[in-house]
Amino acid sequence: MSTAKLTINLDALVTNWRNLDALTRCETAAVVKANGYGLDAGRVGKALAKAGARNFFVAAAEEGGALRRALGPGPGISVFSGHMEGDTKLLKDFQLTPMLNSLDQMLRHFESLPGHPFGVQLDSGMNRLGMEHGEWAAVAEIALGQNPVLLMSHLACADEPDHPMNAQQLKTFRGMTDGLEVPRSLAATGGILLGPDYHFDLCRPGVGLYGGMPFKDAVPVVQLDLPVIQVRDLEPGETAGYGNTWTAKRPSRIATVAAGYADGLHRAMGNGGIRVYAGGTPCPVVGRISMDLITVDVTELAEVPDMLAILNEQQTVDTLADAAGTIGYEILTSTGHRYARTYLG
Ligand SMILES: *Cc1c(COP(=O)(O)O)cnc(C)c1O
Repeated sequence: MSTAKLTINLDALVTNWRNLDALTRCETAAVVKANGYGLDAGRVGKALAKAGARNFFVAAAEEGGALRRALGPGPGISVFSGHMEGDTKLLKDFQLTPMLNSLDQMLRHFESLPGHPFGVQLDSGMNRLGMEHGEWAAVAEIALGQNPVLLMSHLACADEPDHPMNAQQLKTFRGMTDGLEVPRSLAATGGILLGPDYHFDLCRPGVGLYGGMPFKDAVPVVQLDLPVIQVRDLEPGETAGYGNTWTAKRPSRIATVAAGYADGLHRAMGNGGIRVYAGGTPCPVVGRISMDLITVDVTELAEVPDMLAILNEQQTVDTLADAAGTIGYEILTSTGHRYARTYLG
């Protein structure tokens, strides 16, 4: 077999959800957009629903439809992008709750789906999605008359606890929602870690569930094992890979493993000190990462195993992200479609 093996530990995912839930006194929902951060929204959703999660968030109505098919009736599914033109049938057929982002969306919703549950997304300063203060002030009374199920906003800098933006957005959100007696939500993973002032009635973690930063106490959810296709011996002075960027300084053994940038192992990682693991023993990645192949210096190994791990307990999505100059979220959502997937739990 020459495809890499991605193992997704749903028990670890559930543990992360429970541990995040235990940090608050409010409801903990789950964000499963982008196909559950690349790990399969249906599987992730079912595992979390079984563990007690009652509400899920996706980015687009189409994602909500797919999730509803997996979850069946019961759990709430909310859509961050709100009620877009063309969404009406999906929202209705799959019982999805749009988070309305503008007056336009609000009018569309009340006209096309009167009585259908909705929430409102407010912009507390990120300037990405949601109604701004003035717009909300103008329509709040009408919206509140239709009984929104949630008022939500999103933090721009929650992964930096000391950033003044956090307190500023909290103040703005409170100013827009205090006294309205509608359930409120402000915190994603980072916001949960900012403490109780940010928790309100419902928290919406995403990345922390999947084992990513800023939830530093997360347990790893993914393991990625790469099959060794070939092993060869190099004399000092010989090179490996495109562009001859690596030269053997000693007699070396090079293993070629099956995965590359087409599988989400970004080419930019190649210069970042990434390792692959033979059990607990790290072996440096050498030379450039190709589309389907990575070369590894296995000189120190007495025996080269059939598989070498590039994601495990020692090297997480955030380690790979640092090496590529990105964030764990992007490593997860780039997760390759060629991998043979195994779900544990
Ligand atoms: C993606 C997203 C989340 C989840 O964020 P994490 O940082 O992954 O926990 C929550 N709310 C909104 C609006 C989002 O876009």
